[in-house]
Amino acid sequence: MSARLIDGTAVAERLRQEAARRVAAFTTLTGLAPGLATVLVGDNPASEVYVRRKRRAASEAGFIDFHHHLSASSSPGDVAAVLDDLAQDERVSGILLQLPLPAGFDRHGLVDHIPVAKDVDGLTTGSQGLLARGRPGLRPCTAAGVIDLLDETGINLEGAAAVIVGRSELVGHPAAELLLARNATVTIAHSRTRDLAEVTARADVLIAAAGIPRLITAAHIKPGAAVIDVGIHRTDTGLVGDVRFEEVAEVAGWVTPVPGGVGPMTIARLLANTIQAAEAAHARTVQPDAPSSGQ
Ligand code: ADP
Repeated sequence: MSARLIDGTAVAERLRQEAARRVAAFTTLTGLAPGLATVLVGDNPASEVYVRRKRRAASEAGFIDFHHHLSASSSPGDVAAVLDDLAQDERVSGILLQLPLPAGFDRHGLVDHIPVAKDVDGLTTGSQGLLARGRPGLRPCTAAGVIDLLDETGINLEGAAAVIVGRSELVGHPAAELLLARNATVTIAHSRTRDLAEVTARADVLIAAAGIPRLITAAHIKPGAAVIDVGIHRTDTGLVGDVRFEEVAEVAGWVTPVPGGVGPMTIARLLANTIQAAEAAHARTVQPDAPSSGQ
């Protein structure tokens, strides 16, 4: 393979250590550790695994763990009531509502019960508005992790042709906003894009976030491009991404592995967002006019 690997595990570890240092400093300063609240609804096994990992990482970094697990038979009103309690609870710096919710729940309506200042997943209407406006705020974790990995390569994003495959609220769309904020020339491809390979072949930076196993082949890649694979799919032969790693690595200049690329960044960014939220909340108690969640 000719591409260089972008080691998400190593970058994530650095971010986690940095978050832990800030948590320790915050705890010394205020006398109380910051708290992360996770809310899980129903019994989706993958979600249970993700939430367990997030809670463990948060505890290791020194956050207090507040966890609520509601049964699949609970009502949207029950979930809203839990979120409203957490919104009021001063010990809770960040609130995460694990997605997907069971069928029939209004995701947008419920997520918006999380105050912008505690929105550590960056998914509320308010947080997404701040992102669209280029104002400081809490950014969606996976999209922010993608930018961290690109920064790791040393590539200058300014003016670079960036193509994002996928326009989801969780990843594709916020990644596009973050790249725009870095002055990349951004193209978003999606399920209706005609001739995907023709679009992606122009990319200096390619973000694969379509949720389709092995969609991106060597023919999609401009030689030397940096390729970030957001996909993660369990198959009979192990985990695969949206990118055909073996062939793409022969053409690209940089590529992330799966696992060990974007995956670990999501949790690391969650920790960074939660300490950012705690610091901003504390700053407001000291200086009430401070912005709701400065960088
Ligand atoms: P994720 O959880 O990774 O964000 P989603 O399943 O929510 O993924 O969204 C998938 C996105 O990928 C959608 O925006 C969709 O338009 C895009 N997409 C799906 N199929 C293709 C395709 N064949 N080519 C390009 N984009 C695609």
